Amino acid sequence: MADRRAISTRAWRRVGAIAILALLPLAFAACRRPAPPPPAASVVFILVDTLRADHLGVYGYARPTSPTIDGLAAESLVFRHARSVAPWTNPTIASLFTGRRPTAVLEPALHRQASHTRLPPELPLLAEKLQAAGLRTAALVDHPGISPGLGFARGFETFTRTFEGADRPRWGFTDGKIVLEAFARQLQAFGDERFFLYLHLVYPHRPYAPPPPYDTMFGEITDKTTREFREPMINAYDAEIRYTDDVVRDLLAELARQGRLDESWIVLTSDHGEGFWEHGRDEHGNSLFDELLRVPLIVRPPKSAGIAPRSITSPVSLLDLHATVLQAAAGDRLAAERAERGGGRSLLRYLDGEGPALIDDVVSQQQHTGDVHATAIVRGASKLILRADPKAERLRLFDVASDPGEHAEISAQQEELTRRLERALLQHVARDTRDRANLAERTPGVLDADEIAKLKALGYLQ
Ligand SMILES: [Zn+2]
Repeated sequence: MADRRAISTRAWRRVGAIAILALLPLAFAACRRPAPPPPAASVVFILVDTLRADHLGVYGYARPTSPTIDGLAAESLVFRHARSVAPWTNPTIASLFTGRRPTAVLEPALHRQASHTRLPPELPLLAEKLQAAGLRTAALVDHPGISPGLGFARGFETFTRTFEGADRPRWGFTDGKIVLEAFARQLQAFGDERFFLYLHLVYPHRPYAPPPPYDTMFGEITDKTTREFREPMINAYDAEIRYTDDVVRDLLAELARQGRLDESWIVLTSDHGEGFWEHGRDEHGNSLFDELLRVPLIVRPPKSAGIAPRSITSPVSLLDLHATVLQAAAGDRLAAERAERGGGRSLLRYLDGEGPALIDDVVSQQQHTGDVHATAIVRGASKLILRADPKAERLRLFDVASDPGEHAEISAQQEELTRRLERALLQHVARDTRDRANLAERTPGVLDADEIAKLKALGYLQ
């Protein structure tokens, strides 16, 4: 019996081996078959204003500023080298909502003018497109600059300015509980329908004023903003990130409580970073160095889609977010239309991995203070900053792989590469300028005096 069983086992093993060999080509073909398109599902888009990527654990920060965001990242596509299109709020959100780079939407202008210039009314916005595709839409916005008066509310069924309900003196202090309550109410209002929910949180933005118990988490803090107080300023900034992380934790818990967490796409990013004198300046809006451009970008697919988490090292631009949200929320058709018209391409192209054909130039622009009209291009590990001011050093080239702090300027050693990148950058800028010139309304209107006075009272405009 024992021998017969042994023979029989050997025979079965042989049959099994033959079957496996016969099936191998089929299995191989199955592996190479393109992945099914990702599901169109609700999108919760969390934009945390002024959040540097390198102050989060998932991007290598040593301090425990971001346990929730790190956990979210572990289930997500994490873009390790994402850069914003601009180093301050309005141009970045104008780009997210229109799918164009900022200078293809707005005249380059200083903050004082640009922060109350309306979006061109003829450009259809992200929420309008999604509404037309049948989605419910809502925005919860903590930032007074992203105002309905400038056109940013177009396409949103409800556009709630969460700082208006806060009892704190200035907009940058808004209480997370107010956002959470508005979020819970909004989710209930959506019922079972597919939705796009845009959340714009502002805590890490100045003034750095973390509430207790966060204020003591990372050492002494200050409300001063001069260079000698750099360390306590960073402590306060980190404490505000830690506070934000708990707000995100509560938002995700509410999504889960209402049964919408696992079936939704979650996008978490920022509009720009923050400077602490790495290149002689603080705050933001005043240069195109990476402390202002590098932002977190985390895209968590619906659990039901069974998409594996992945870390993406190719450089990507926030220009791609418009097409990404279109594809995630409404399917392939709208996103493909966007790409054909010269906007960004959906980042869901990275769901199956990376490759040279997926990589685009990353172009950033400056329209705030300091180096006005500066532009920058990132191609692979090379980053070129071009400034229009002929009195200043016009071209600066950095190898951001070997020199991520951008301290060693190498344009003199890499003249051919510098010229090539300059040509490419000027072509991108020329295209944007042409697109803006083709808008019917060349000079979009500005806010009226009442609204400007309101922004001044909130401390947003001087
Ligand atoms: Zn901002």
